[in-house]
Parts: sequence; C-alpha cells; structure tokens
Amino acid sequence: MHSSQYTTEPPYDVIIAGCGPTGAMLAAELRLHDVRVLVLEKETQPASAVRIVGLHIRSLELMAMRGLLDRILPHGRRRPASAFFAAIAKPAPKSLDSRYAYLLGIPQPVIEGLLEEHAIELGAKVRRGCAVAGLEQDDEGVTVELSDGEQLRSRYLVGCDGGRSTVRKLLGVGFPGEPARTESLMGEMEVGVPQEQIAVTVAEIRETQQRFWLRPAGVGVYSVLVPAAGVSDRAEPPTLEDFKHQLRAIAGTDFGVHSPRWLSRFGDATRLAERYRVDRVLLAGDAAHIHPPIGGQGLNLGVQDAFNLGWKLAARIRGWAPDALLDTYQAERRPVAEAVLDNTRAQTELLSTEPGAQAVRRLLTELMDFDQVHLHLLEKITAIGIRYDFGAGPDLLGRRLPDLDVKQGHLYGLLHHGRGLLLDRTERLTVGGWSDRVDYLADPTAAVDVPGALLRPDGHVAWIGDDQRDLDEHLSRWFGKPAH
Ligand SMILES: Cc1cc2nc3c(=O)[nH]c(=O)nc-3n(C[C@H](O)[C@H](O)[C@H](O)COP(=O)(O)OP(=O)(O)OC[C@H]3O[C@@H](n4cnc5c(N)ncnc54)[C@H](O)[C@@H]3O)c2cc1C
Repeated sequence: MHSSQYTTEPPYDVIIAGCGPTGAMLAAELRLHDVRVLVLEKETQPASAVRIVGLHIRSLELMAMRGLLDRILPHGRRRPASAFFAAIAKPAPKSLDSRYAYLLGIPQPVIEGLLEEHAIELGAKVRRGCAVAGLEQDDEGVTVELSDGEQLRSRYLVGCDGGRSTVRKLLGVGFPGEPARTESLMGEMEVGVPQEQIAVTVAEIRETQQRFWLRPAGVGVYSVLVPAAGVSDRAEPPTLEDFKHQLRAIAGTDFGVHSPRWLSRFGDATRLAERYRVDRVLLAGDAAHIHPPIGGQGLNLGVQDAFNLGWKLAARIRGWAPDALLDTYQAERRPVAEAVLDNTRAQTELLSTEPGAQAVRRLLTELMDFDQVHLHLLEKITAIGIRYDFGAGPDLLGRRLPDLDVKQGHLYGLLHHGRGLLLDRTERLTVGGWSDRVDYLADPTAAVDVPGALLRPDGHVAWIGDDQRDLDEHLSRWFGKPAH
C-alpha cells in the first residue's frame, strides 16, 4: 500500500475495527466530542446468540455517568454483588461503596446492541460486512485496507477486533502469555426431565466439579457448561452429541437435552499485548488482553478501556491534548489488565479438583468471612478498587468518586457530556480558560471531604487541593493549554 498519495485531510478522525462492546463504547465516547468516527465490523449482522454476561459495579457506574443506565436496566436481571470470586458463595459485604452495588445479568448481544444504537444516535457511522485486512501509517494518518481491497483513510485507528485481532497482528505487537489448558463447552438447550430432578443431581456434582452447570436460562431453556476435554474436534463447532456425551460422563445422564439454541466452545488462554499503542494505531478490549471468563470481567474490562481512551483520543484530535496524554492510556490500563489476568489465574487454580487447590479454596472461603478480605476481592472483580498512579497524594487521588448526592441531584448526572468537572467547596477556585472542557460545581456536597477536587471525564480524581496555581498546573496536565 502506498499512502504518500494522501495529501488531503482524511475523511475520518478515527476508524475503529470491530463493533463489539469495546468498539461501540469507544465510538460513543468519541462522538461526545464531535470526533468523526467510522466503525468497521466484519460481520454483516449483529451477534444474535451466546453468553449472558454480567455488568459489574464499575461498568454500571460508567453507564450511569453517560445517562445510559436507565436504558439498559430493563433488559437485565439484578443479582446480588456476591459470589464473583471463584464462584465462592458469600453474602456481599455491607461496606460496598456504590449506588450500583449489584451485578446486572444481561445477554451480551443485548448490551452490544444498546451500545451500538447509542453510538449511532450520537452520530457514529457503522459499516457492517467490512473486515480490516491491512494497514499502513504515516505522519498524518492511517490507511486501512478492507478484505475486498477498498482503502479508507483516517487520522487514527483503534483495533477493537477481539482476541484474534487482525490489527494487533498487522502491527506486529506480541501477545505473550499462556495457551489454553482447558476448554469448556457452553450452550443453551431444552431438557427432557423435571427441574426438581435436575436440581438435586446438579447440586451434588457441583460440590466437587466447578466447571459444570445446568441451570434455567429463560422459559423452558437451560444453560449448560461442561468440560470439553476428550470430545469433538477443536476445528469444528461443538455438537449436541458432544454435550450429551459429557453430561453422561459427569452426571450419569444426559437429562434428555434437545433443541439447542446455540452451542459454543471457549478456552482459558491468558495473554496480554506487549503494547497498546504504536503511533497512530491503538488496541483496546479483547484485542489487548484475553483471559478465562471466570469472574465475568472481559467485557467490563474492554468497555472500561474504551472509557479511558475515548476522551484522551478526542482531546488529541480536537488539538488540546498535552503530548503525553494519549500515552497515559497504556500506562493506566495495561496494569489494570495485568491485574485482571492475575486474578483469573488465581481463580482458575481455585476451581481445580486437585486436593491441594480444594484445600486452598476452603481456606479462602473461611477468610472471606472477614469483610475486608471479601471487599478486597470484590473491588478487584468489580473494578471499583482501581487507583491510577497520578503521583504522590492523598489516597483518593487516582481513584473514582462514587455517584454521590449533590445539590443538583447525583454527581454522575453532571458527567453525561464527557467533560471534566471541578468540585469546589471553597467557592474560591475557578476553571478559568479551561471552561470549554471542564465544568464547575460550587459547594458540591459534604460527602467529598476535600476542599477542591478535579474529576477527569472518566470520573477519576485528577487533583485535590485548594490552591489555584496548583490547580492550574493540573488543569494543564490533563486538559492542555487554556483557551484564553
Ligand atoms: C463463555 C464466556 C462468558 C463470558 N462472560 C463474561 C461476563 O460475564 N462478563 C464479562 O465482562 N465478559 C465475559 N466474557 C468475555 C466477553 O465476552 C469479551 O471479553 C468481550 O466480548 C470483549 O469485547 P470486545 O469488543 O473487546 O471484543 P469482541 O466481543 O470479540 O468483539 C470484536 C468485534 O470485532 C469484529 N472483528 C473481528 N475481526 C475484525 C476485522 N478484521 N475487521 C472488522 N471487524 C472485526 C468481530 O466480528 C466482533 O464483532 C465471556 C466470554 C466467554 C467466552
């Protein structure tokens, strides 16, 4: 590909490869800042089946921050914020500090559809049936080649194209980690025996076998999870016969399963991209990290990557981003993914049927009776414990603020437009020349126990204090030069 022929302004600011949850969320975030976005999705139709996922607390908070939660809630089922870590059943600790302290179970295609709809409403263009097959970048932009040879041009490209990311491979970015050790079969189907009979057998098996379930998943339909070991060819889609075979091996009966809605196979490979950015091309979501689904974190992590990247990339395109801002995306999000990979490794060990692992599981189960231990694990899984490294300062610096009551209602209600926000209890501070990027709230709430706090568009605390000069330095650090 020769991109030197491109001398005019690219028609798009950002092309996003992949319209999964990460790509759709990123497109919407960019549109809040009027960035011209094109999303290229290789599938002609939105995903129709497969996996119920859980939106964890931090993702629910992000949705609330953009005014999306009311739209999403009716499509999901609220469940208690507990039993996330290695499926160890314990009631949620009372001290979970969030207005949204629950898990929202929701089918992945539904959340994907809602996010795509939201991005389109905000003005993103989505082209389906377009697979990114090549890329070349230069000083001004990126030329993206589709599998049919069409070439498109943009200033930046973001690969949100899943675990087998073409963009990551084209960049030559390494994806080191561990290959899958175990594979599982998961699907939805009908059963031929009464629920009571199933419940007793399943409860017995699950005392020792954690990689198994057979549970109601809607009217007349059951969700089934069994180990894939020993059945079917990895290269072929799993069959109902594979499920029957495994059910008979584990439970001594196949429960008369029939009429599958969908069948899938997944592994527990654990990998992390060596870099999230190569000049004008970035990676987010599963394209940057994969891990076993235990704890239900992958989609949440990807959506949160998009939330971190969106305003920074928009700032770059709008021309006000300080030089280092875009690099903070990798600096902040790669360690978060590293920690998620680690907690899924730990959880995977705890699911092993080996006696040693079972003993550690029993011990951890006891330890989780201490609220602080349980809270620590929950804060990891739900991502509300994240503290970005913004330098030395009070513990709150770098953390997210919960959705506090403020005079105007809820704090998150003031963040719908993806702008910064200065909370000022002193009523002496000002956002001055940054008022086109940062909002101001005087005397916000007694719940924020600091004189002044600057929130980034992603709701993380970027500064704490009462000194205007110090504040101005931090406004420059995060929001660039003042407009006047
Ligand atoms: C059994 C199972 C259960 C899970 N449960 C949970 C859970 O409870 N909670 C949770 O948070 N996560 C869960 N996950 C993980 C979650 O499904 C993924 O992490 C999530 O889908 C990642 O989103 P993404 O947008 O980054 O990538 P994807 O969802 O993979 O989307 C990538 C998109 O890019 C498109 N694409 C690929 N290549 C190209 C190309 N070359 N050009 C254009 N488009 C392309 C694809 O068609 C796809 O639409 C689970 C996963 C599994 C397997």
